[in-house]
Parts: sequence; C-alpha cells; structure tokens
Amino acid sequence: MELDIKQLKKPFLIAGPCSVESEEQVFTIAQELKRECAPALLRGGIWKPRTRPNSFEGVGAIGLPWLVNAGKSVNIPVATEVANAKHVEEALKAGVNVLWIGARTTANPFAVQDIADALKGVKMTIMVKNPINPDLMLWLGAFERLENAGITSLIAIHRGFSVYNHPQYRNVPNWAIPIALKEERSDIPIIGDPSHISGKREGLFSLAQKALDLNYAGLMLEVHNTPEKAWSDAQQQITPAAYKELIQNLILRSEFIQQKEESSIQNARKRIAAIDDQLFSLLKDRMKIAEEIGAYKKDHQITILQTEQWKNILETRLSNAKSLGLSEEFMKEILDAIHEESIRHQTEVMNRKES
Ligand code: PEP
Ligand code: MN
Repeated sequence: MELDIKQLKKPFLIAGPCSVESEEQVFTIAQELKRECAPALLRGGIWKPRTRPNSFEGVGAIGLPWLVNAGKSVNIPVATEVANAKHVEEALKAGVNVLWIGARTTANPFAVQDIADALKGVKMTIMVKNPINPDLMLWLGAFERLENAGITSLIAIHRGFSVYNHPQYRNVPNWAIPIALKEERSDIPIIGDPSHISGKREGLFSLAQKALDLNYAGLMLEVHNTPEKAWSDAQQQITPAAYKELIQNLILRSEFIQQKEESSIQNARKRIAAIDDQLFSLLKDRMKIAEEIGAYKKDHQITILQTEQWKNILETRLSNAKSLGLSEEFMKEILDAIHEESIRHQTEVMNRKES
C-alpha cells in the first residue's frame, strides 16, 4: 500500500502491540483499538531485533497471517518491521500493507541496501526509524537508498537514541536531530514514537504532545490488551483504553497563525529579532576584547586558557544568571560556547605572523 504522504490526515496514528504473540492476542487488540480509537495503521512486530539473545525474538513468519487477518477484521491496514530481504519477501507475500525499518537496522547501511534491493519495483510506503546512534546522515542515507530503489512514499519515525542508564529515557530524544531532518527533508513526514523513547508508561503523554507541538505528522504507540504480561517491552505498552485517553487529551495546535493573532505575534517576533541583533553586536564587541587579551598574552608568553580564571568566571556569571531566573544548565551551555569561540579568536591572534 502506498500512502499519499502529502495528504496524511493529522495526527496520523499507528498503534498495536510491540510483538505479535498469538492469533488471539493481535485479533483482540485490533478489535479493542477499533472500538476505542481506531488508528490509521495497526502495528505488530513479527521479527524482533533483540539486543541480546534468549529474549523473545518474535513469532516469525507464522504470525504474518494473524496480523494481516486482524487488520482485515477491523478494516485497518497493518505494518510490521523488516530487517532483511527475506522478511520483505515474506511480509509482501502475506499482504502486509506498510513496512518499517527498525533502529538497529537503519544503523547498518548494508542491511538497508539489501532491503532497498528487495523492494525494487514495489509500490509501498516504507517507514524508517532513526538509527540507534545519533547520526542524521545514516537516517538520511536510508531514505536515499530506498529512493534509489524507486520507493517514493517515505515516513520517518523518531524513536530516540541509545544511551547508557538514563534516569528518564530508554532512548534519549535528541530533538535537534529530527528537527535537522525536517530542515533537510521537509517532504518526509515525521512520526513520534514515545513508547521507545520513554521505555515506560509514564512520560508517554508529554512526549506525544511535544512531538505534535514540533509539528510531527503523527504518533506510533505500543498498545497491548494485557501490557504487563507482554512478551516484549512490557513496561512501555498501554491498554487500548489508556491509548484512547492519551489521544483524546492531546492538544492539536495549528501550524498556521490566525489573522487576528498575526499582528501581536509579528510584533513580538520583531522585538525578538531586535534583541538577537543586540546579542550579536554585543558578542562581536566581546570577541574584540578577547582579541586584545590574546595580543597581551602573546606579548607576555601566557597560555590562552587559565583554568582557575575560567572557573571563577563561570561561578560568578552563573550565579548572576540564576538570580535573573535563567536556567543554570542553559547559561552554562551558552557560556561554554562563547568561551570556545573566544579561545578561537585568541588562538588566531597568537598565531598571526608579524608583518
Ligand atoms: C519496535 O518498534 O518494537 C522496535 C523494535 O523498535 P526500534 O527499532 O525503535 O527499537
Ligand atoms: Mn517495542
């Protein structure tokens, strides 16, 4: 099935179990989803790329007709993950409507190329999850490989990036990467996958809302009739009823500004633009002073970086910023960036040949 990605009905919802476990399980979930809040696609993992062996690796091809029939019983197209050419062949034969490439596979260009080759001549929507590592090029590359094989209906799924022992996320969102993808490829809609970012039921709603506020085209959520008994990803799956509640509570904001709001927001934007200009001009003056210091250090054979001095600056500046209500974390990032640029200017002065 080839979705017209320019006309996706927003929010485009994909829901279903992490893994297809039995004919009855996927059928029950399909029925309950249809009753509560029908998604545009029913998802179900058939082959599960588990990080370690001896965990449930999916029921395999035997589950394909279970998924396809469950979808047919509620008139919702179905989607599954493929990780190699054989999966593609079997999923196509069984009548799966949409395929997605999982995060571990996107990270491997050889595997993506094999899948792309297996899809030559097929008219189908392919969804590509971000690679597990925060590398925009791998994600872009996967789309390009599929496009070279003739696939034109592509969707990106943002499921977060691997991280070691994070207190909040199973996979950190790194929002800057999907935003950069949007800049590069505004033609490819992005779907948020809060289930794999959060890794637990808590936090799904705010991740889903944030995705929509970043103007994502939709969401993929893992839904199971008995989540705590799920054979994979039990902590992050929710019931069809909880899914319905989550979707109903989402606020759908408009990308476009209403006429009557226009003038007040334009005015605010102008004020922001003026402040940005002031910031740039101040930064330019700051760099000029840094260069003067660079010249002094050069004349007196002093190193550019003075650790103690920098530590003192950070401490006093951050406490000033804090008293203005600015977040310490944010100001630290800004100061570090300014410091780095200032060092670059000083280095240039130090290395300048005398004429
Ligand atoms: C999944 O969707 O169940 C899955 C395995 O996802 P990911 O590739 O994002 O880990
Ligand atoms: Mn999963």
